Amino acid sequence: MNCIFCQIANKEQPADFVYEGDKVIAFKDIKPSAPVHILVVPKKHIDSVKNLEEGDRDLVSEVIFTAKKIAKEQKFDEGYKLVFNVGRKGGQIIDHVHLHLLGGF
Ligand code: AMP
Ligand code: ZN
Repeated sequence: MNCIFCQIANKEQPADFVYEGDKVIAFKDIKPSAPVHILVVPKKHIDSVKNLEEGDRDLVSEVIFTAKKIAKEQKFDEGYKLVFNVGRKGGQIIDHVHLHLLGGF
């Protein structure tokens, strides 16, 4: 599949990883828009939050809990932003679900 985040998850493209678990990965955004800008990404290809299914509840929860863990480990958990862009009008460019973790303000 021609999906950059699937390719990163499969190690077919490089990324600056900050976390890898069984189901979720996290790596630094290539074009940061905050002092710390990390993308938390399920390994499973789901194109958009719009198309999440009931069976994806645990996976989405793991994405959010992973972000929280990273913020704590990297010591910016006093305050940060979690953002899902949804659809082109919502600013989504990469069609593989990802959570923006923005911090270090
Ligand atoms: P979105 O607009 O929500 O789809 O966000 C996509 C994000 O992915 C943007 O912030 C990009 O800077 C980032 N991005 C695109 N390609 C890569 C890549 N190869 N490695 C890391 N981040 C990327
Ligand atoms: Zn994908």
